[in-house]
Amino acid sequence: MALRSIRKVEKIIREEHDKIGALEVQMSVITPAELWKETGRWEAMGPQMLRIKDRAERELCVSPTNEETITDVFRKTINSYKQLPVCLYQINTKFRDEIRPRFGLLRGREFTMKDGYSLHMDKACLDRFYDRIYGAYVNIFTRMGLEFISVEADGGAMAGGGAKTHEFQLIADAGEDTLVTVPGVYAANIEKAPTQRPNLKALPAADLTKFATPEQKTCEDVAKAHGFDITHTLKSLVMQVVRGEKVHYYMVMLLGDDQLNEIKFKNAMNADHTRPAQQNELEKLGLIKGYMGPGLDPVQGLSVLYDITVDVNGSYVVGANVDGHHAKGFVPSRDTKMTHKSLDLRLAKEGDVMNGKPIVLKKGIEVGHVFQLGDKYTKSMGATVLNDQGKAITPIMGCYGIGVTRTVAAAIEQCHDKDGIVWPAAIAPYDIYFGVIAKTDETKKIAEEIYQSFLAAGFEVLYDDRGMGPGGMFKDADLIGLPVRVVLGERDFTATGEIEIKVRKTGETLKVQRDSLNATVKEKLQSLGKWA
Ligand code: ATP
Ligand code: MG
Repeated sequence: MALRSIRKVEKIIREEHDKIGALEVQMSVITPAELWKETGRWEAMGPQMLRIKDRAERELCVSPTNEETITDVFRKTINSYKQLPVCLYQINTKFRDEIRPRFGLLRGREFTMKDGYSLHMDKACLDRFYDRIYGAYVNIFTRMGLEFISVEADGGAMAGGGAKTHEFQLIADAGEDTLVTVPGVYAANIEKAPTQRPNLKALPAADLTKFATPEQKTCEDVAKAHGFDITHTLKSLVMQVVRGEKVHYYMVMLLGDDQLNEIKFKNAMNADHTRPAQQNELEKLGLIKGYMGPGLDPVQGLSVLYDITVDVNGSYVVGANVDGHHAKGFVPSRDTKMTHKSLDLRLAKEGDVMNGKPIVLKKGIEVGHVFQLGDKYTKSMGATVLNDQGKAITPIMGCYGIGVTRTVAAAIEQCHDKDGIVWPAAIAPYDIYFGVIAKTDETKKIAEEIYQSFLAAGFEVLYDDRGMGPGGMFKDADLIGLPVRVVLGERDFTATGEIEIKVRKTGETLKVQRDSLNATVKEKLQSLGKWA
């Protein structure tokens, strides 16, 4: 049944892509290492890429995505501005050796993705197409009858300035992504949201003094034991930053009750990787866990960064870099050499505001992602196009993904109740659950006629002629969650000629005569968005 839903999702995706002039293609799933080596992603993809060798020992991989393949197609087939813009898409298998595959189809290692790629002469053209594909995505998820929001996403370092990227997120408690919204005004993935904390006021500058804080190793402990407001303490996190061959260490200063947003940090550092420093690295730097701080005796080999919510002219409680001690009256601008400007590094949280308006956090499942790539792939793979002056230029790209299998699983996460799935009609495996409770051949024959008339009317029907009693049958029908349940019960039908219809979503139940059955079912399905 899930496969039937997947096919419907695919159909809606195809129709909306074809409408905006995108062309469907199919690329090979197994791709040669050479292409990935041209862009540096053979290394950069790391262990999530499943690598294999053929009989001639040539390296290949099972595609986790297809920018390289499509750029190869572009450079071999497109050479004039007259051929642009163009958008090619496929619906195909992807493989990613995820660290934590989980929740079945939501995060599988092998999954189906719609991936589309467009090629343009300039940014203005990419922007115009971006708006069209964005519109297509809105139509796709609207037609599926799903509650979604599009959020500004993190483009990573590769997006470059001015590059747009949005994720399409289905709202569901089971979601792994946290979304920051100001209803009707703003929505972004927490990975990127630049929120503010309201009503902060640092303590005025004061003398720097050490005080004993035995066994008090966190900001919470120190604030509690010594009567400080937690926002008057600073936590010191030491992070390792890897850029190419180089390894650096940074001490990141945040308000005592804030968390580091590692994605903001990685982007701000323009890093290949970042991670918290480990115990042995802290020891090498001469730092004592629980008592680390930025000032007093400055630490060699460590740059200090402040989050923007820290008032660098106010005073705070910080670790003293002495076992069992903190210091109060620490003023960043006075007591550390501030070589870096403050950065937005904190994780947004409940209670934050955006331009004075309170934020609301929601859980979401990322089902789609649209992304302006710029010239990253065309440049590194040497794809060029002649412009109207006959001059070779490097065109730019956009890429657009939808997790097809994930969308089906996410739809179930969003649309269910305690009894089972409540399928949106547009992507339900079947329209009708048709159950028959009959002993006599005569009623069974009528059931068969009704089934045939459903099919003739173009409905998709799951015909339950297992001969179960009503209890088990109704339970199964609720669990499977098809939009409309129709039950032919021999006793009622013989007595009154009535057939029962139940709408799964609303629970509405009605009884109709056989001659108005098809029309009523059609009307119900219509109102549920079957033909959206
Ligand atoms: P995530 O952050 O969830 O890992 P991603 O950002 O790596 O996803 P993209 O590279 O943008 O994903 O891929 C496009 C789409 O493919 C995603 O929006 C998602 O719907 C789907 N997708 C990605 N990884 C998986 C997976 N492991 N299983 C199922 N669908 C996936
Ligand atoms: Mg993504």
